[in-house]
Amino acid sequence: MSLTDTYGRVHRDLRVSVTDRCNLRCTYCMPPDFADWMPGDHLLSIDELMTVIEVAVGEGIVSIRLTGGEPLVRPDIVEIVRRINALPVPPRVTLTTNALKLAELAQPLADAGLERVNISLDTLDPERFKRLTFRDRFDDVIAGVEAALAAGLHPVKVNTVLMRGVNDDEAVPMLRHSIENGWHLRFIEQMPLDAQGSWDRSEMVMAAEIHDLLETEFTLTPVPGRGSAPAEEFLVDDGPATVGIIASVSKPFCSACDRLRLTADGQLRNCLFARDETDIRATLRDPSLTDEQRRERIAGLLASSTLAKLPGHGINDPSFIQPDRPMSAIGG
Ligand code: SAM
Ligand code: SF4
Repeated sequence: MSLTDTYGRVHRDLRVSVTDRCNLRCTYCMPPDFADWMPGDHLLSIDELMTVIEVAVGEGIVSIRLTGGEPLVRPDIVEIVRRINALPVPPRVTLTTNALKLAELAQPLADAGLERVNISLDTLDPERFKRLTFRDRFDDVIAGVEAALAAGLHPVKVNTVLMRGVNDDEAVPMLRHSIENGWHLRFIEQMPLDAQGSWDRSEMVMAAEIHDLLETEFTLTPVPGRGSAPAEEFLVDDGPATVGIIASVSKPFCSACDRLRLTADGQLRNCLFARDETDIRATLRDPSLTDEQRRERIAGLLASSTLAKLPGHGINDPSFIQPDRPMSAIGG
């Protein structure tokens, strides 16, 4: 089976948000006093998550990315990874995290079959980190990155969102530090997905500008063969180190998108910026269905959501409307 949309895009990657809770408050994601959490009984249980993942794998999904919110605050996260890996044909499992809890969890996650991690870090300055996240936890992140490297979760990708006048002076130092420490750095353009709706196009640091900032110190050569990957990769000073730039806003890569998303409360989204969601939770919890009927119905919902996917996210259209839910609730 394959999840193919009307534009011929075959969907192989499912982003699974396991919680909307988080132990940081990154300014571009949620305000410090954010309290609009999903009701606890709306969050999918591990068994419910596994039912959706199993059906999705049967429909052609080969890669699962666990995310949130912060996926490591979910107490059963290691068990989730272990159970995905125990499937008859296990998909690749990766995870996106702020790394606060990674020092203790990197090895158990690796033992459970996690392939690698993406870690979010926007500054190398502990004081700035505190201002940007409203938590004094910089050292925990660094310990987490080191634990991921020690546990063999390679390549350890570090994602950085540059913001004008906030941390755009760190593009070069971030790359230098990453190369020296064996991190694979990727810069991500800031997107209109914050809970407070304060994104401002004129304020964002675009990919071309990031490229120019890096070229003041390094020579960047494009690496061919990007496929469906969101990041455009560049060799740094002829390699072997590389750096990625994810130009979601200024150079959208929708035509090669192969991703679907499941929110922590069981809603399927065919795009980060989709205005519609498909309710999987209701089917998971419908007591009138047998297990077989439930799985058949979920397979149908995956197919219909894929078929309804639009050609692009439309951020650059005048009619663009930011999704009702912030990134932390959708799953980044
Ligand atoms: N809490 C985990 C983390 O921060 O890695 C996983 C969830 S977080 C929503 C996933 C990614 O989304 C992070 O790399 C974060 O930097 C990014 N992100 C959040 N809000 C964003 C925004 N408005 N624009 C661009 N990236 C954003
Ligand atoms: Fe939490 Fe990740 Fe959002 Fe930061 S970006 S507030 S770590 S969910």
